[in-house]
Amino acid sequence: MSALHSEHLTPAAYEVARVRQAFPILAQRIYGKPLVYLDSAATSQKPQAVIEAMSRFFLEENANVHRGVHYLAERATQAYEQARAKVRHFLNAEQAEEIVFVRGTTEAVNLVAQTYGKSQLQAGDEVLISAMEHHSNLVPWQMLCEQTGARLRVAPIDDVGTLRLDELERLIGPRTKLVAVSHVSNVLGTLNPIRRIVELAHARGAAVLVDGAQAVPHLRVDVRALGCDFYALSGHKMYGPTGIGVLYGRRELLEAMPPYQGGGDMILSVSFAKTLYAKPPQRFEAGTPNMAGAIGLGAAIDFLGELGLEAIAAHEQDVLAYAQQALAAVPGLRLIGTAQGKVGVLSFVLEGIHPHDIGTILDREGIAIRTGHHCAQPLMQRFGVAATARASLGCYSSVQDIDALLAGLARVRELFK
Ligand code: PMP
Repeated sequence: MSALHSEHLTPAAYEVARVRQAFPILAQRIYGKPLVYLDSAATSQKPQAVIEAMSRFFLEENANVHRGVHYLAERATQAYEQARAKVRHFLNAEQAEEIVFVRGTTEAVNLVAQTYGKSQLQAGDEVLISAMEHHSNLVPWQMLCEQTGARLRVAPIDDVGTLRLDELERLIGPRTKLVAVSHVSNVLGTLNPIRRIVELAHARGAAVLVDGAQAVPHLRVDVRALGCDFYALSGHKMYGPTGIGVLYGRRELLEAMPPYQGGGDMILSVSFAKTLYAKPPQRFEAGTPNMAGAIGLGAAIDFLGELGLEAIAAHEQDVLAYAQQALAAVPGLRLIGTAQGKVGVLSFVLEGIHPHDIGTILDREGIAIRTGHHCAQPLMQRFGVAATARASLGCYSSVQDIDALLAGLARVRELFK
């Protein structure tokens, strides 16, 4: 994780109080208590700059993109394509054509499964995932396997939540066509060694899809340095709006892929006899896109750039270290996911108390955490629990938030004494 700490941006330069001011929602009181928002892994809050960029689009620029000749259509197209250019830069992709706008990570994974997967996989081929995948990087592969007769294989993790690389390596065989893994786990916070996984997969001719939903708000992602073939992300987890996400795909792969959905904007020409498809990324963006969403995502990228991902990461690591130490000292509390170099996601169970009860009691204290299986039921089974409580951090999280969580947990334990 040390690579995340920039030499010239020390955590001391990061003023969390100032960062919080950029998020109007955080000033609220809930049941008369200051809001303590510890659910950023589910969705992050939105800074004023993102909200304003979207309303400015509707107030001044709204028109349908790509096909219009009038002034507003031109302006909307420019703004939409500028957002794509920002994403390209954000991920350090080589070309803007490698950036496909989708609804979110879920759609990105489904797109790859139903286009690349369906055209490349045959009965007996294999898709390899890990034991810590979110359902959205699991169910689409199961569906593909049902459709093609391919087989889903799962690389295990150890007791602290680290991916077993030795097992992953062993499981990549001659029939493995695709390895699909999360960059960061939404339950454990584990940061997976993507570059190494890509090396192992590519050495055996398998492509790699990375589910980056939980990585992009916390660390700088460089798809060329990672060497991955596909990278999926959701705008709403990185301070952007809901309903917009990105599929990065290497150009050669996208160009060879059949379309995902048919409709307007994804064609070159249509006749009843034959339709010619547009080149990527348009080929994969059928219909009127989420223009305001893309513009909001572009504004979120600007916001992250202004704060500095390295500075955010350093700050979050400080809060995480504080939280891990403090939570470990709570009697009866078991932290699930304690891998080295993890990101700010804290899953835990309290002996004898259901996570939903924890969440409900904390809510009355103004504290928002998530409870349940976090769309990772097989991972819950791996740790022998039905559900966990999960506190997750964002750029605005503070040690005061953690202190409030600790006080809330003390209250929970008091009530269940
Ligand atoms: N993957 C991971 C690791 C996630 O945390 C999530 C969201 N919880 C998703 C995928 C799905 O993202 P979305 O619902 O935005 O499509």
